[in-house]
Amino acid sequence: MTANDSAPSAHFIKKIIEDDLETNKYDGRVMTRFPPEPNGYLHIGHAKSICLNFGLAKEYRGLCNLRFDDTNPTKEEVEYVESIKEDVRWLGFDWDDRLYYASDYFEQLYQYAMQLIKANKAYVDSLSAEEIKEYRGTLTEPGKESPHRNRPVEENLDLFERMRAGEFEDGTYVLRAKIDMASGNLNMRDPVMYRILHAEHHRTGDKWCLYPLYDWAHGLSDSIEGITHSICTLEFEDHRPLYDWFLEQLKVYQPQQIEFARLNLTHTVMSKRKLLRLVQDDHVSGWDDPRMPTISGLRRRGYTPESIREFCERIGVARKDSVVDIKLLEYCIREDLNKHAPRVLGVLRPLRLIIDNYPEDQVEELEAINNPEDPSMGTRMVPCSRVLYIEREDFREDAPKKWFRLAPGREVRLRYGYYITCVDVVKDDKTGEVLELRCTYDPETRGGWSQDGRKVRGTLHWVSAAHAIDAEVRFYDHLFLKSNPEEVADGVDFQSNINPNSLEILKSCKLEPSLAQATPGSRYQFERLGYFSVDTDSSEEKLVFNRTVSLRDTWAKIEKKQQAEVGRIGHRA
Ligand code: ATP
Ligand code: MG
Repeated sequence: MTANDSAPSAHFIKKIIEDDLETNKYDGRVMTRFPPEPNGYLHIGHAKSICLNFGLAKEYRGLCNLRFDDTNPTKEEVEYVESIKEDVRWLGFDWDDRLYYASDYFEQLYQYAMQLIKANKAYVDSLSAEEIKEYRGTLTEPGKESPHRNRPVEENLDLFERMRAGEFEDGTYVLRAKIDMASGNLNMRDPVMYRILHAEHHRTGDKWCLYPLYDWAHGLSDSIEGITHSICTLEFEDHRPLYDWFLEQLKVYQPQQIEFARLNLTHTVMSKRKLLRLVQDDHVSGWDDPRMPTISGLRRRGYTPESIREFCERIGVARKDSVVDIKLLEYCIREDLNKHAPRVLGVLRPLRLIIDNYPEDQVEELEAINNPEDPSMGTRMVPCSRVLYIEREDFREDAPKKWFRLAPGREVRLRYGYYITCVDVVKDDKTGEVLELRCTYDPETRGGWSQDGRKVRGTLHWVSAAHAIDAEVRFYDHLFLKSNPEEVADGVDFQSNINPNSLEILKSCKLEPSLAQATPGSRYQFERLGYFSVDTDSSEEKLVFNRTVSLRDTWAKIEKKQQAEVGRIGHRA
C-alpha cells in the first residue's frame, strides 16, 4: 500500500494557505476552483482535485467555484457538462450559485487582448501552425522571431477585429503574446492566445469564431473570479511564468498557481482521451462501465462517495509523481461496505439440495442478522424449505480430510439454519455431472447450534429454491493486465494491454427473497462471496448485480491457505 495510513496531515498546500491567512495576503479569503474541460467524463484523478479544491475551501471557510474550461468547441459537449455536475454533487460537494464557464468571459477576454495589443504586447501573426512550431526552436536552441512580429499596433488592432468579425478562414491568423523568442521556457516564446475556428460552441453558438487558448483563458478566469489559490497538476509548472506574465501585463488581480502531483493508479489509464478511446473502440459499454475509473463507472460499480473521499484523503497531496496501488481504492470501499452494507444470502452457481426428512410443505422463517458490525441494522426473516440451493463450489465428492464444507457423509451448518448431512449424490448418467444432493437435517439444531455440543467446522450460505429470486451477476477484473498499461512493445499502444477477461457474467444466480425490492444503486454483502450492488440495467423482469469488490483480503488469504492445503492433501490421496 502506497499511502500513509495516518490521520490527514497538513500537506504543503495547506501550509501555503495557512501562511497566507497569517499574513493576510488575500484579506483572509480562501477561494479555489475546480476547472474541468467538458471533453469527457470525470475520473478518479479528478476526484482527487475535487476533494482537494472543495475540501480546502471548506476547511478554511472559503469558497470553491465550479468552472467549465470550455474554450475548445470541437471536443466539448453538453452531455459532459451535465455528467460533471452530477459527479461533483454525488461526491458530496456544492458550488451553490457559483457555476461558471470560461465562455462567460469571452467578451472580457477579448477586451483584455485588445488592451495587450494596444500596449504592443501582442500581435497578429500570419505564420501557419507548422511554421510557428518550426520557428519556436527547441530546449537547446532559441526560437526565431516571426516576420510579422513587428506589425504596427494599428494593423494588429484592425486584423484582430476582423478576425472576430469572421472575415478570415480557420488557420489564417493567430494572436500571439509578444514575450521572448529566446526564453529558456518554451511557453514564453510568443505563445498563441487566439486562433480562428469557425465552430459551433455548446453555449455561445456561432457568436464567436475566435477562441482563446488555455493559458490565456485560465489565468484570467481565475483573476476575474477572485481565486486566491489556483491549484493544478504538475505539468503546468512550466506554464506558471506565463500565467503570471499575462496578469502582470494587464495589471489585474493576481491569484497564485500551485502545482501538485496527479493521481496515477495501477492497472488503469487516466486520461480522458484514452478513456474516450476505450468507449469508442467498444472495449467497454460506455463511460459508466463499472470497469472504468470514471466517477460514474465507480458509482455504477457500487462505490460510495464516502469511500472515494476517504481514498483521496489517504493518498495525500504531494509534489512528486507516484502511482497508487488500486488495492488501496478497493480497500476503502470494502471498509465502508463492511460497516454499512446489509448482508444477505445469495448463491452464484446453484446446486440443488433436497432435505429428505424435512416436511414436504413446511416453510420456516429463520431470523438472520443484517450486519453484525452494526446491531442497529437489526434482523430479517429468511425462508427455509425442503429444497435449497447451495454453492456448487461448496460441495466436493472426493473431499480430503480437511475439507470443511459439504461432501458425502459430512455434516455442515446452514447459515442461520440447521445442521445437514449429505447422504446421497444424484448424477447425470452420461456426463457424471452432479445434479443434486440428498441430505438429512437435524431438527434439534435450529439456529445453527447443536444441543449435544456436536461441532461442525463449515457454514454454508444457501437459499430456499421455491422462494429464491433469479439474478444476473457481473464480475469485473482490472481493465488492463499490466500494472502499468503504458508499458508496451514498439508499435503498439496501451490498448494492447487490455485484459480480455475483465468481465464475467453469471446468469442464473439465486438470491434470498428480501432482495426482490432491491433498487439500482443499493449495495449488499453476499455472505462469504463479496460486496455487490444493483446495476442500472436491472428491471422488473431481471435483477442485475455488479460485484463491487471481493470480501476482505484476510478472508481471501485464509481461503487460499485452505485451498492450498486441500490441493496438497487431495493430490496425495
Ligand atoms: P485528462 O488528462 O484526464 O483529460 P485534464 O487535466 O486534461 O485531465 P481537466 O478537465 O483539464 O482534465 O481537469 C480538471 C482538473 O482536474 C484540473 O485542475 C486537473 O489538474 C485535475 N486533474 C486531472 N487529472 C488529474 C489527476 N489524475 N490527478 C489529479 N488531478 C487531476
Ligand atoms: Mg485537459
